[in-house]
Amino acid sequence: MSTEAPALQVSGLCASYGSVPAIVDINLEVRRGEIVTMIGANGAGKSTVIKCICGLLKPTSGIVRLFGEAVTRHSPDLLVKRGMSVVPEGRRLFGEMTLKENLELGAFTRNDPVAVRRDMDRVLNLFPALRDRLATPVGTFSGGQQQMVAVARALMSGPRLMLLDEPTIGLAPVVVEQISRLVVEIAESGVDILIVEQNAEVALDIANRAYVLEGGQVVAEDSAAALASSEDVQRAYLGI
Ligand code: ATP
Repeated sequence: MSTEAPALQVSGLCASYGSVPAIVDINLEVRRGEIVTMIGANGAGKSTVIKCICGLLKPTSGIVRLFGEAVTRHSPDLLVKRGMSVVPEGRRLFGEMTLKENLELGAFTRNDPVAVRRDMDRVLNLFPALRDRLATPVGTFSGGQQQMVAVARALMSGPRLMLLDEPTIGLAPVVVEQISRLVVEIAESGVDILIVEQNAEVALDIANRAYVLEGGQVVAEDSAAALASSEDVQRAYLGI
């Protein structure tokens, strides 16, 4: 067992929209070397947890630690500098801008142009289909390619922890398969991962551990393999 601080540790996290609580007392962690997933139905609170972790929403209480350091309520920019990067729900790319410009934006917190160029090359090695399209506006790309750009852009900040919010939503099965393989490759390259998915089958297939959210609370946590073989999870989320 490693004595290193977890990549991410969330304790007692609560958040509301106005006076309506959205998540209550969320506890979860991503240990070094792990892919962890949060699964749950529409409205279970998954995106709200991600937004609180990455600084887009201020939690009403709770603590977020990144590699042992308390970073609760830090701004998204500061969190990127500390090694966290996010692939947001809906991608939020700049469609009029070229692939190269979108990737450069992912490196906005860095001031080492030589290393940024080297990382762009490295990132493009992960996405061979994109390499010839650096000068093309990303708005013309297919949905699957745009999702890959969103992942590639997140990698350009040189993260140690990556959060992915519903990366496979709306994509064809063959593209879902490609994105999942990429996530595993990224994890193998040393980036710890928290991935939120409505597609529990995909998520449990690639994750080491998983948390199940219902009504803004964690109702189960276990190894992904154990949850995938749990009858409750199979009935509720795997359509078995
Ligand atoms: P989805 O898969 O649909 O994104 P989710 O599990 O990510 O669902 P959240 O988006 O975190 O769930 O939503 C949790 C709760 O908070 C839901 O009841 C939702 O209606 C509510 N909610 C989410 N965003 C807002 C918002 N901007 N304003 C008000 N309520 C919101």
